[in-house]
Amino acid sequence: MAGLTGPDRPLPESLSSTAAVDRYHDFRDKLAQEGMRPVVLDYVAWRRRVRAAHAAGLPAPPPPERGPLSINLDLTTACNYACPHCIDWDSLNSPVRHDLDRLRGSLRELARRGLRSVILIGGGEPTLHPAFADTVLFLKDLGLQVAVVTNGSRNEVIAAVADRLTAGDWVRLSLDAGSDATFQALHRPRRPLRFEAILASATAVKRRNPAVTLGFSFVITWRGAVGPGAPLVENIGEMATAAAAARAHGFDYISFKPFLERAGDGAEVLDGGAGGRAAARIRAGLAAARRHEGGGFRVIASTNLRVLLDGSWRDYTRQPRECHMQFLRQVLSPLGVFNCPAHRGVTKARIGGPESWADGAAAAGTAALLDRFDASHECREVTCLYHPVNHFLEELVAGRADPEEALAARPDRADSFL
Ligand code: SF4
Repeated sequence: MAGLTGPDRPLPESLSSTAAVDRYHDFRDKLAQEGMRPVVLDYVAWRRRVRAAHAAGLPAPPPPERGPLSINLDLTTACNYACPHCIDWDSLNSPVRHDLDRLRGSLRELARRGLRSVILIGGGEPTLHPAFADTVLFLKDLGLQVAVVTNGSRNEVIAAVADRLTAGDWVRLSLDAGSDATFQALHRPRRPLRFEAILASATAVKRRNPAVTLGFSFVITWRGAVGPGAPLVENIGEMATAAAAARAHGFDYISFKPFLERAGDGAEVLDGGAGGRAAARIRAGLAAARRHEGGGFRVIASTNLRVLLDGSWRDYTRQPRECHMQFLRQVLSPLGVFNCPAHRGVTKARIGGPESWADGAAAAGTAALLDRFDASHECREVTCLYHPVNHFLEELVAGRADPEEALAARPDRADSFL
C-alpha cells in the first residue's frame, strides 16, 4: 500500500530472525483471521458512515455493538519492585482498586462484543492481586486467549493455573539482565529475591504446561539513560549471557527491546538519539545472543529495536489523524479505560471509568475519543508498533481500498493478541 514505510524495508543481516517478531506484530494479518475480521469490517463500515454523516452535516450514527478485540488488563497498580526504568512509575501503588464484580461484568460485556484476548500486564505486578488466579480461570471460561507479563517474583501463582492455559497463551518475564547484580540494580525487589531463583521458578511453569509459550523480556539500557526512578545501569554487555540463561531454563525465546521513556505529555517514547549512539554495541550484543539460538529457542529483536537499529524509527512516529487501533485494542485499568498502552493513565487518552464497559458508557466514550484524539499530534513522538496497520485501516475507512478484499479471510492461528 502506498505510504507505508518500515516493514517493507530490507532488514539488516544481523536481524535475520525477525520473521518471528514480524509475524507477532503483523497486525494486518491478525485482523484478517476469521474470528476477528467481522469486528474489523463492522468498525470500518461504521467509520465510513460517520465520515459521510460529518460531511453532510448530519449526526453521526451510533457505534456497532462491538468492542476491542484485545485488551491489556491491569489488575492492580501495586508492585513489589521499584525498577528505576518503570514506565508506570507515576501511577504505581495508587490506592485505586477494581470492583471485582464490575470487572467481571466488563469482561463479560467485552466478550459479548467480540473480545478475543487479554494480556494481564502493567500498571503494577498482576500476580500480586489476590484474584489473579480466579481472573485467569474466569477469562478461560469465557473462551479467551490469556497472556501474562510478570516480574517473575510469584511464578508459583502462575504455575498453579498453568494447566488451564492453552496453545497460543503465553507468559513473559521482564528480567532485563544476565546476572544477579544487574537484575538487582534494574529491579530493586522489595524483598530478597535472586535472579537464579526466578529463572528456576519460571521453568516450573513451562514444566507444568509445555503448551504455554515462555518468554524472557530484556529491555536494553545504555549509559546515560535515566529512568523516572534513577539513572540506569547499562545492560548491553549481558545480552548474550541472558540469552544463554533463558535457553538453559527452558524459555522459548528472549525478546530484546529498547528502553522507552515518558515524554512530557505522558506518552511512551523512544530516545532514538541516545539509543542510536549505542546501536553498534547493541548490534554486537544481539549477534552474540543469537549464537544461543537453536533447539526451538529463538532470539527476537522487537519492532522498536529493529527500527531503532535500521534508522527507520522516525517513520513510525507519523500516525494518521484517527488512530483506528484505539477501537480494536484498549487498556482496562483500575484508573479507567484508556485508548492505548502508550498512553496508559493519561487523562486525554481516557475513554471512561474502570467500569465503563460494564455500565455501557465505554462505547460512546470510544466514539468520542476517535473524533477528539488527534494521533498525528498526540503520538508524534511515539514509535508506534501499530503504525502500519493504522495506515492500512485508514485506507479502508477513507474508501481507497475494498475492506472485504483487503481483509480476505485467513484461518485463525491461535494468536489474537494486539
Ligand atoms: S497511534 Fe499508536 S501510539 Fe497513538 S494511540 Fe494509536 S496505537 Fe497508540
